[in-house]
Amino acid sequence: MTIRVGESAAAPPFPKAALPLLQDQQLRGNVRHATEVIQRKRAQVVAEQTDWQELRSAAAAIREHTLQHLDRYLEHFEKACTAAGGHVHWASDADEANRIVAGLIEQYGGREVIKIKTMTSDETRLNAALAARGIEAIETDLAELIIQLGHDRPSHIVVPALHKNRMQVREIFRDTMNLPGLGDKPEDLTAAARRYLREKFLRVKIAVSGANFLLADTGGVCIVESEGNGRMCLTLPDVLISIAGIEKVLPSVRDLEVFLQILARSATGERLNPYNSVWSGVAPGDGPQHFHIVLLDNGRAPILADAEARQTLRCIRCAACLNVCPVYRQTGGHAYGSSYAGPIGAILTPQLMNLEHGDSLPYASSLCGACYEVCPVKINIPEVLIHLRGRVVRERKSTLNPEALAMRAAAAAFSNRRRFEAAQRLGRIGQIPLTSDGWFRPLPGMLGNWTRARDLRALPKQTFREWWQQRERAGSKGQ
Ligand code: SF4
Repeated sequence: MTIRVGESAAAPPFPKAALPLLQDQQLRGNVRHATEVIQRKRAQVVAEQTDWQELRSAAAAIREHTLQHLDRYLEHFEKACTAAGGHVHWASDADEANRIVAGLIEQYGGREVIKIKTMTSDETRLNAALAARGIEAIETDLAELIIQLGHDRPSHIVVPALHKNRMQVREIFRDTMNLPGLGDKPEDLTAAARRYLREKFLRVKIAVSGANFLLADTGGVCIVESEGNGRMCLTLPDVLISIAGIEKVLPSVRDLEVFLQILARSATGERLNPYNSVWSGVAPGDGPQHFHIVLLDNGRAPILADAEARQTLRCIRCAACLNVCPVYRQTGGHAYGSSYAGPIGAILTPQLMNLEHGDSLPYASSLCGACYEVCPVKINIPEVLIHLRGRVVRERKSTLNPEALAMRAAAAAFSNRRRFEAAQRLGRIGQIPLTSDGWFRPLPGMLGNWTRARDLRALPKQTFREWWQQRERAGSKGQ
């Protein structure tokens, strides 16, 4: 079995990957500006929704119920989709999903496909797998197109090219589309992308998509988007192949009433996405006449079995947690080394990879709780982060590593008053060469990692307890 989440197996640990990105002022400025704009828009449209908290509760309850009965709802989906003329395929891992998609494209005689933005195909590295079989995948989402033409990596779930500004996009389009006089106004750039893509929409006969939601009662698939490229891919080609994680299913088409409201507001700060497409199987003479959907596990089933972490699979990929995260906003998405960045990436990637990779990600958080506050399906991300940190310590880290040894020593000192007071006395003596003006100077060796980004106050000359005892003694003498 090949569980793959983008490039996470080869990615360096988060602290190492983040360092060069923290030096990139252009990237940090772009990320800060873009996340601030989206946050502002989200705050406005959420504030005008008077039942926002009730919507969040309803969304969380629907997702939790579905996950607890996922086997049943997936069977319903398969039955209804098949009855509507679709074909359902099951993939246990990334390689199997890629093989199924490539095999279908070859079966229909295609050598190129147009694609709607899909995080799931990024997770399986579908484009690379197709290229290895001589099939070209053409991204049609504007941000994904920028990433593809710039040979870059996505850095945000909803806005993959958020780390690029207009001038950088103009350079990419100018060089790859051979447009030397291209301007950098939004309308110049979108017109260039439209001209480039229109010919492909009209020529290529096979499309690949993801799915925002699968509907168990109708066998329907729902995709929401803002640009209309998705609608082109869903209507013009002869063949449509979708790939979706098994957790994307909802019990009923009626549940879209809740999810279409919370997704648009949380993701792009819109009241409703401009394009909401829902289809079931095939309709003679209308749209693609062959529809296949690949349902992907790729490490999801074990998450379902973990009662404390299962809430991770409620995620609807709105990216609201990324936009508010103080860590993501400093580093951007590349530091996470995965298709999924930010707080959701910090809990999803390590779990999909069964902690084989990405075990530094649960520590890439200040635990401030901002992600939990904005999450439209109420995933308690800090709670899952702490749960995963516990797993990392128990399952992955040697008991002889410095952090584990330090924690054992701290536990021994904190559990006994005399040991604690002795440690305080020793600490006061030991800190003398390391402090000045009441603060620790940068600590030497490995401890320097801790003080590089933090100020650490020196231990006071007198503890509160000592001060109190002294005061009591002085009081009793005075009586
Ligand atoms: S964890 Fe919540 S806020 Fe973050 S992407 Fe998923 S649904 Fe959105």
